[in-house]
Amino acid sequence: MKKKVNIFGSTGSIGTSSLNVIEENQELFSVEMIAAGSNIELLKKQINQFSPVFASIQNQEMEPLLKDFLKSSSCSTSFIPFSETPYVDNDITISAIVGSAGLEPTFRSLSHTRRLALANKESMVTAGDLINSTCKEQDVEIIPVDSEHNAIHQCLKAGRYDEVHNLILTASGGPFFGKSTSDLEFVTVEDALNHPTWSMGSKITVDSATLMNKGLEVIEAHYLFDMPYDNIQVKVHPQSIIHSMVEYIDGSIISQMGVTDMKLPIHYALFFPKRMHAPSYMFDTKGSFELSFHEPDMDTFKCLPLAYQCGKGSLTSRIVLNGANEVAVNGFLNGKISFNRVPEFIENMLDRIDNKDPETIEEILALSDEVMAKAIAEVNSGTF
Ligand code: NAD
Ligand code: MG
Repeated sequence: MKKKVNIFGSTGSIGTSSLNVIEENQELFSVEMIAAGSNIELLKKQINQFSPVFASIQNQEMEPLLKDFLKSSSCSTSFIPFSETPYVDNDITISAIVGSAGLEPTFRSLSHTRRLALANKESMVTAGDLINSTCKEQDVEIIPVDSEHNAIHQCLKAGRYDEVHNLILTASGGPFFGKSTSDLEFVTVEDALNHPTWSMGSKITVDSATLMNKGLEVIEAHYLFDMPYDNIQVKVHPQSIIHSMVEYIDGSIISQMGVTDMKLPIHYALFFPKRMHAPSYMFDTKGSFELSFHEPDMDTFKCLPLAYQCGKGSLTSRIVLNGANEVAVNGFLNGKISFNRVPEFIENMLDRIDNKDPETIEEILALSDEVMAKAIAEVNSGTF
């Protein structure tokens, strides 16, 4: 029996890589549902190629175009409204929407899947406890797709939980590794999007340049692996060959290495606990190569210490961190906020919002929407 896969964010960087992996393993996986944000042209191509049972688009203006296409084409795919997509039963849900928009579909999917292949780290940052407890109740297994967490998932097989001393997340350092605050004063969007080792969507690429991506990943690691923040370290490793490491109490450090291609962790998340041949992802171990490690520069890249602070702080602070960052990154991409103002903008929002912590998914979503609306108003006020 083929495993049925649902993909949220099928037209993005992780979504398309996921479909590539499925294409290479069509005898084992079938696409049950794909959902896109607004890239209807790519969605149509994916429908033609993969014949999912259901297809959806979040942008409501695009819905009629999708319905017309499905009516006129010879495919057997049915339209499904975006709000109903989480309720399509499947074996593996790939959560690959970018940003806070990923939380609701990811969370609501948990009662309709067996495995959550999680790329949308923002879900864990804003609702880690709730996702973990719901996965436990519903008997859903989370396999991280984020390369660092996927690496740690693999490295943790070398020992027991109580034998782990530290998790060590590696960071490429992004395009601005080694730069000072003054060097970064006038960097452009193009500079920030020029990632040295990974090809990804624009939000995560800017997050990598500010090191907020690593900050979000520290929080993600805390929830995925039940690890205290003081035992989660970050090391800058510009070659991005080691995807992360686990240090055990006896001093052994186990790392996972490989090519910088997200198809590798996606492949692992689809096949786990088996390993299957993937000749095209082999790392070329011939010849010489170097591995270097550096301490992250927490003074220049203030988003990383901010994330640790919110990780150890309240749920409200993590929701503000996540929402304010998302709005600041969009502001930077649209030329409204300079690169160096991003952490300041987030700190300002953290000072302004201090609610009682939300408890239910509805309360979390409402607070997240409120944070984003306030942050958007702040960006539009032009004070940043
Ligand atoms: P992307 O921008 O390339 O793609 C995002 C996808 O989400 C697209 O399909 C888009 O249509 C969809 N989308 C956007 N807004 C939406 C909305 N409001 N409602 C529904 N769908 C919407 O992003 P990406 O780089 O693929 O990243 C996706 C997630 O995976 C992020 O959370 C990111 O942090 C995480 N991640 C990505 C990588 C990577 O290599 N790209 C690595 C690790 C983790
Ligand atoms: Mg990552």
